[in-house]
Amino acid sequence: TEALLQKSEKLAVVGELAAGLAHEIRNPLTTLKGFTQLIDSQKGETNRSYIELMLSELDRIEMITNEFMAVAKPQAITFQEHDLIKIVKQIVAFSAPQALLNNIEIKEYYLTEYSDIICDINQIKQVFINLVKNAIEAMPNGGSLKIIVENQNDQIVIQIKDSGVGVPKDILPRLGEPFYTLKEKGTGLGLMVSYRIIESHQGTIAFESEEHVGTTVKITLPYKN
Ligand code: ADP
Ligand code: MG
Repeated sequence: TEALLQKSEKLAVVGELAAGLAHEIRNPLTTLKGFTQLIDSQKGETNRSYIELMLSELDRIEMITNEFMAVAKPQAITFQEHDLIKIVKQIVAFSAPQALLNNIEIKEYYLTEYSDIICDINQIKQVFINLVKNAIEAMPNGGSLKIIVENQNDQIVIQIKDSGVGVPKDILPRLGEPFYTLKEKGTGLGLMVSYRIIESHQGTIAFESEEHVGTTVKITLPYKN
């Protein structure tokens, strides 16, 4: 529990700092990118590869700041009553084309009738988008994605199970650490953001994984009462 607490406290501080930082970085970044694109468009042969490198690094900074900005909008957060199953179905519909493209079959199991929660709908959608995206990215050669919504006491439990590459045991505790990524084009922010959002909804998020077998992400959220 102590380790968990420390982790969530660290994330809270990181999140607040990052929100401010992302905002401050944005304007100079836009200027830098604009002028670099301008130089790029002049088609001079000199320093071509440097300019390309600059643009790709600028894109990376932009991706990271955008990902932070996506959660760093405290003024836009509104907690309201929503049907979680409806939200999950929307995310599945939204992810279907990408799943199809990657040869991934999505199966949904809704095993609870009552699924109202109090949440910020955009934040909760962001969590499911992040997790489904990770699941799809973990199955480059296709596979199956199971989404199970059930209840356990006064909690709603949502499981997202993929048949992907899995996560090595020694790495599991690092998931959710800011900037921890094993992907070439990853930001290592999706899970940190997801942890923060679920915690702010009084829920929990846990990973179970076996290499070359797959990963299950289990989220619990309290029912609205
Ligand atoms: P990113 O997706 O940008 O790398 P995330 O925070 O979303 O950042 O994920 C961090 C890391 O956790 C990923 O790079 C990946 O190695 C691992 N991971 C997350 N979800 C899964 C999954 N479903 N299967 C396998 N590995 C995963
Ligand atoms: Mg991700």
